[in-house]
Amino acid sequence: MCLLRAIQISVLTAVLAIAAYDLPASQGQYREYSMNEKPDATKTAEVNDITIKVVYDNNPYMDGLQTAWGFSAFITGPEKTVLFDTGADSPRLLSNMEKLAIDVNSIDIVVLSHIHGDHTGGLDGFLEKNFKVVVYLPKSFPEKFKQNMQARGASIVEVQGPLQICGDVHTTGQLGTSILEQSLIVRTKLGLIVITGCAHPGIVKIVNTVKDLMKDDILLVMGGFHLNSVPKSEIEKIISAFKKAQVKYVGPCHCTGDEARDLFEKQYGKYYINVGVGRAITSADLQ
Ligand SMILES: [Zn+2]
Ligand SMILES: [Zn+2]
Repeated sequence: MCLLRAIQISVLTAVLAIAAYDLPASQGQYREYSMNEKPDATKTAEVNDITIKVVYDNNPYMDGLQTAWGFSAFITGPEKTVLFDTGADSPRLLSNMEKLAIDVNSIDIVVLSHIHGDHTGGLDGFLEKNFKVVVYLPKSFPEKFKQNMQARGASIVEVQGPLQICGDVHTTGQLGTSILEQSLIVRTKLGLIVITGCAHPGIVKIVNTVKDLMKDDILLVMGGFHLNSVPKSEIEKIISAFKKAQVKYVGPCHCTGDEARDLFEKQYGKYYINVGVGRAITSADLQ
């Protein structure tokens, strides 16, 4: 009798566990993806017009906006509207978004690159304004962080390997060894756009991963390249690797460092995009 009861309980537990993972993300449960689930590289791009607005960065660009250490970018044009990272705090994030006439409630998806506070700090305050979002985060995030987001009403998707987020929007999956980080990929008719948070796994590693994964030309790589304390000779090697990978445009910001930004600008000339808070990059800038 006791054995039967134990079997009943374990069967019930197993059924509940399976059900929890089968629930759609919109019901506040998180889905797990296998490492083998890759974006469909054969699919052709449908995104014609894309706009990426930098809403949080330590580099100034537009007068009247606040700068602070961190990064966040707002992306429209693909099937869903995406916020990539959330900066270090919500007052600055939300104030900059308001000044840029961005409706917080228009955002469907939040993608967090990695756990550092200068990329995740604005999330709590953001969720107070709009919790009807699906948050894509590296699976390695602390459980407490995930539970907090769910308690606030957001749905979460734990990202392990590369996957398609929606339409032409993909993630590299969590890369790296110590600080695990994902980068965002948008496939446009002009080529691939890659947006990085801090590039802790290595910016060249990220670029090459995207090339292997998507089998397409890279139109633009933008975001933090993490080259702040890297010697000049090393930065030059990185720029050569970018050229070898035929990256057409670059928009380094956040933790890239002034020296690396200057060197990229020298090497890329008119294909260098000056990125700071308030900068909007559209398809017209990437012809
Ligand atoms: Zn970081
Ligand atoms: Zn950072």
